[in-house]
Amino acid sequence: MEAQINPTFQSLKRNVGQFNLHGKTFLIPEMNRIGAHLLAGVFRSFGVNALVMDTYRGLDLGKEFTSGKECFPCQVTAGDVLFFLKEEQARLGGAFDPENYIYFMPEADGPCRFGMYNKYQRIILDSFPDLKDVKIGSLTTQNSYALDGMIEKGKTRNFRKAGYFSVIVADILDRLLWRVRPYEKSPGATDSFIEKAMKSMTAAFERYGADMAFDRILDGLEEIIEEGKSHIDPGVPRKPLIGIVGEIYLRTHVQSNQDVIRVLEKYGAEVVNASIAEWVNYTTYDRMRSEKIGLRLSLKQLRFKRARAHLKAMLNYVSELLYQQSRQRKIYKRVKERIDMLDDHAVGHLENVLKEGNIFSFDVGTEACLSIAGILEYVREGCNGVVNVYPFTCMPSTMTSAVVRPIMNRLKVPYLDTPYDGTFQPGREAAIRTFMYQAQQHFKRHGGKSRGTHENKDVD
Ligand code: SF4
Repeated sequence: MEAQINPTFQSLKRNVGQFNLHGKTFLIPEMNRIGAHLLAGVFRSFGVNALVMDTYRGLDLGKEFTSGKECFPCQVTAGDVLFFLKEEQARLGGAFDPENYIYFMPEADGPCRFGMYNKYQRIILDSFPDLKDVKIGSLTTQNSYALDGMIEKGKTRNFRKAGYFSVIVADILDRLLWRVRPYEKSPGATDSFIEKAMKSMTAAFERYGADMAFDRILDGLEEIIEEGKSHIDPGVPRKPLIGIVGEIYLRTHVQSNQDVIRVLEKYGAEVVNASIAEWVNYTTYDRMRSEKIGLRLSLKQLRFKRARAHLKAMLNYVSELLYQQSRQRKIYKRVKERIDMLDDHAVGHLENVLKEGNIFSFDVGTEACLSIAGILEYVREGCNGVVNVYPFTCMPSTMTSAVVRPIMNRLKVPYLDTPYDGTFQPGREAAIRTFMYQAQQHFKRHGGKSRGTHENKDVD
């Protein structure tokens, strides 16, 4: 007698994966706002009808259809897609066809729970008869987010390049916002300026992305940087620099983290957040690293055929990583000629930082290795404090906190954990204010050494 296969598990296989996006509406959840919109622009330039869903408006739905034990980003994104589809049903009535939509939810292999979001959300969508035909389009870190089957075969390489380029440009726009806003001449001007800049860059990616006319996009970016500088009041002295690390969704999703960067700025900070490109580079680096380990093992076991396969895969990842890093360096160089901005951390360097101090290991995986090494780099770069932003109960961020707390005590650099789960904790702002007091003291004693100057002297 054959065992019955649970229909839920069939759906996980059949309705989660890499589907052709042609002729479908591709729903992108908003994580960091700018990055999501620029990526949607890239998809549109490749002929995919991509749109960014409104975010956080469906949080009640997300909480209603989860148990409360899931990671907070899983609840928020579940709410986003349910809310969007509900509105779409109301808008289209009988013309609503669930097969027209593919919802984007990538995944990562363990040990943390991100790999389960799309499975769990599949179960939620399947519990609504009208929504069970909405597919979930997924990319995985297993193959460093390869797009096979989603975009026309001959175009995936160019898409990856344009997509990566959009990630860097989004990081730069975010960094520009955090560089300018604490010193703005007119309150609120930077937010409106960055919103306008995001729209113009989205249009540029939509227009030039598929043709890979990256110089045209960079020309536009340079104009934006120049305009951004004009919003800085040169009379406002530089402020303590606070570095942010943590779980990628929470630290970049402004609604989920209750706008922690703005709160830090309110108490006198200039902030820099870990970038999205760092995570993309890390996934490529990690695959390269795994292939290298596989190669060594196969050679030890004299399994040459397997060793050759590992070598080939490793070289592919090496060339991809070299491409990514050189592209990133070139863009940062052009930007830094116009405004001072912290460079992004190179992932190989972060691994060396951990090895040198014998503090943690990339073998453990997850964002903990990036966060722990990133914190130490922030300290070396002259940050006056570090904040770890993460979902309540997040495993990698809890590990980060456990490892770095004693180190930060020893280094005498202020450090703050800020877990979020959608509730408003009355003591949080007081904790941030106290942390900023410590950061101000640190700044008075040590300044911001690697920024070179405490004045906005490159702007006038
Ligand atoms: S990184 Fe944290 S929040 Fe994200 S899936 Fe893992 S445990 Fe959950």
